Amino acid sequence: MRLFYCPACARVYYLSDYYEYVCGRVHATSVWPDGKLRRFYISGRTEINQPPWAIPTVVEERELRDQDVIETHLTACKYPEDENYGDVRRHFGYGAPGGKHLTKEQVVEKYGQFILKAVEIIP
Ligand SMILES: [Zn+2]
Repeated sequence: MRLFYCPACARVYYLSDYYEYVCGRVHATSVWPDGKLRRFYISGRTEINQPPWAIPTVVEERELRDQDVIETHLTACKYPEDENYGDVRRHFGYGAPGGKHLTKEQVVEKYGQFILKAVEIIP
């Protein structure tokens, strides 16, 4: 167990250090390093404050444009072992537009500012 914090909202959590996590809070819309106005949600979560999300190996990301804001929704891929992700019955619940599969590493890269970082404890 270890203390983690979210670089975006500074919320602190005490968690197992076995996983990598996305902050469980819904963050305000902001300009991301790609220069676009973005906001993201972890699917199936409606409350503002939720426990952090341990990033699964394969993630389904859906990008939806709402006027100037790009909204993304993240959900765990249910069939990460599939050789190709073209079967829309198994992925994206029948082919939602704007869908993409991301590896855990790609999630960490793209959502970097919301990935929990370990608090360094100075002895
Ligand atoms: Zn946060």
